[in-house]
Amino acid sequence: MIYLDNAATTPVIPGVVSAMTESLSATFGNPSSIHSFGRQANQLVRQARDTVAKALDVSNRNIIFTSGASEANNQALIGYALANRDKGNHILTTAIEHPSVLNTVQYLRDRHGFDVTFVNPNPDGQFPAQLIEQNLQPDTILVSMMWANNETGQLLPVAEVGRLLASHPAVFHVDATQVMGKIPVHPHEIGADFLTASAHKFHGPKGIGFLYYHEDLKFDALIHGGEQEEKRRAGTENLHSLVGMTKALEIAIQNMDENYQHVQKLNDSLLSLLSEIDFYKNEFGATMPHVINIAFPHQNHDLLLTKLDLAGFAISTGSACTAGTVEPSHVLEAVYGEDSPKLKENLRISFSELNTIDEINAFAEKLKSLLK
Ligand code: PLP
Repeated sequence: MIYLDNAATTPVIPGVVSAMTESLSATFGNPSSIHSFGRQANQLVRQARDTVAKALDVSNRNIIFTSGASEANNQALIGYALANRDKGNHILTTAIEHPSVLNTVQYLRDRHGFDVTFVNPNPDGQFPAQLIEQNLQPDTILVSMMWANNETGQLLPVAEVGRLLASHPAVFHVDATQVMGKIPVHPHEIGADFLTASAHKFHGPKGIGFLYYHEDLKFDALIHGGEQEEKRRAGTENLHSLVGMTKALEIAIQNMDENYQHVQKLNDSLLSLLSEIDFYKNEFGATMPHVINIAFPHQNHDLLLTKLDLAGFAISTGSACTAGTVEPSHVLEAVYGEDSPKLKENLRISFSELNTIDEINAFAEKLKSLLK
């Protein structure tokens, strides 16, 4: 089976497996205990925090470990909105965010009365900073924007939006889940006040991620209880997953340039192998090479996905699946409209550095033969 669905999740690499296995057998203490078992565990939590902080070039005081990016997004958005009602009532985000942002701001609207704007892209599918500026209001307290989209790989202009917001009271939340470990991610450089990521997108374990927050921010905790994470996120730390995330991040950063170039090669070679057949790309401006969102006119994606799966190739459309049928993509709907036949044609092929040119050749061959 060839795995080309790395935007959904990535395989855990051997270095991560051994680091986790070692910590599972060697370290079982509760990081909050004061005896040596606890101190040993606490040391691993500190190391994890230092590694993440170093990668982001921020202080280790400003990281909260979470169960992944969904929780981190909920924590930033709900935590900030509820603690800062006195500052304003408006939240702005884009129509193409991950459901963990879209559904969270919808919850803030429906259950807490916030006024929410979901900004639609321009007709070319892009979100220039001016478009965000046009939708800002004097009472906007929060702007949430993803760095790269998980369905299309589209890069959003986070640095420009960060600059724009430097002279506006709204705080800026950036969902960096699809770029962390792949390109340099430094919240201060893009003016992000909150930033989210998740280990399983960079070859770490599932169920662990983090939220960076600017230290001047006031926000409520989502999970109440003990005093872990400076009282910002209660619960015994997910120690072994933290070890795995740390290892995965270190390896990703060490090999970042090389990995990026390799993935770019995979991307280029797939597109050139497919050049003789009729396809179009769902590509809206600058895009991460890790994702190709492609479609073949009049070819239903459900059928093609099933055939590819049976032939040993794991890809997806990028949007949610219910009972084996793909839900129409809210990302493509934002560009093409809800009645567009294009919503039934898209396929997402997403690479990691573990994929090989041979795999891409085999995939292109199979795809061409299925389309014939
Ligand atoms: N944000 C983006 C852009 C994602 O791609 C994902 C995962 O698909 C998430 C958030 C949610 O991450 P997690 O699975 O860690 O909750």
